[in-house]
Amino acid sequence: MKSLRCPNAQCPLRTNPSLGMIVRFGFYPTRWGKRRRFRCKMCRRTFCRNRGTVYHRLQHRRATFDEVAALSVEGVNKSAIARVQQIAWNTVDRWLEKAAAAGRRFNDQRITKIRIRELQVDEIRAMVGGNGHPPVWIFAAIEVWSRLWPATVVGRRSYRNTLTLFRELCARSTGSHLPLIATDGFKFYRQVVRRIFGVACLYGQVIKKRRNDRVVQVQRKTRFGAAWRWNEVWRDSEDSRKLNTSYIERLNLTIRQLSAYLGRRTLNHARRTQRLEDHLELLRCHYNFLRPHRALKFGREVRTPAMQAGLTHKRLTFREVFMSISTFLRWVKVHCIFIRQVISTAQEDFVVSMAA
Ligand SMILES: [Zn+2]
Repeated sequence: MKSLRCPNAQCPLRTNPSLGMIVRFGFYPTRWGKRRRFRCKMCRRTFCRNRGTVYHRLQHRRATFDEVAALSVEGVNKSAIARVQQIAWNTVDRWLEKAAAAGRRFNDQRITKIRIRELQVDEIRAMVGGNGHPPVWIFAAIEVWSRLWPATVVGRRSYRNTLTLFRELCARSTGSHLPLIATDGFKFYRQVVRRIFGVACLYGQVIKKRRNDRVVQVQRKTRFGAAWRWNEVWRDSEDSRKLNTSYIERLNLTIRQLSAYLGRRTLNHARRTQRLEDHLELLRCHYNFLRPHRALKFGREVRTPAMQAGLTHKRLTFREVFMSISTFLRWVKVHCIFIRQVISTAQEDFVVSMAA
């Protein structure tokens, strides 16, 4: 009851919930039984708990919606989900779009003020729109200590997209530490890392030479940071003993396993980039908040990356994610983006001034 807000746009209680103004108001029948109704004492409008969430006006059980989302993030394609759940393909498509929007908002709201100790960044090549279309690249990053996947960018393999990814990482971090960053040899990383974190951070590249799809040579090059600082970092690190990109490569594999769109030699490739982006946002939400990570096993407890990063105290479910995100607070997102950009620029200045 405390978390309920009045969904009426004209009601003063919409943004300012005061105790005791939302009361229970009987039940209403649905195809699967009755559901509780609430009433706002201020504007006298009635509403149910699903109002404003992705479940609003759903013609099926909420559990079916959750199952569709869960199947999608386990790498099952939309046609297969439609057959298994015995619902129309268009319904599955529409639900996944809604679920992805909720997942994106949840990620935006919850993944903030993370402490970045060690960062690894890489790109995955994906096919969108079939043969003949240029490949699309998925930039992904991992915070190695917590295994958190803080940001992702989909698009061309360009300077602008690389910069967008690092700006987002900077905006989501506390900004109090200069991280250790490892990437592959892609040409724009060095410029972007210098621009966002300055030369005072530790930055290195792992360049792999391949012949016939096999790695024949690995070069590790430290770009920024003095040798004694690198030695200090390897001595203190719990995860890495030398410069590597193993963790991000493992995350790339997980992303490939859990996305029907990214399967090789299948017919499942995304027809539009937007669909791939949507799926990745839902997948990121699932990976960070719902899925226990095998590397984060402490006794009998297996934590999610978000638990390890201190963003949540328990493993969440899709129901909790979808119920906590309200669609009538959509304007908040626009404001958040604006505020985030302002903070990002301020943090960049701060980091650069620290570096200098
Ligand atoms: Zn009201």
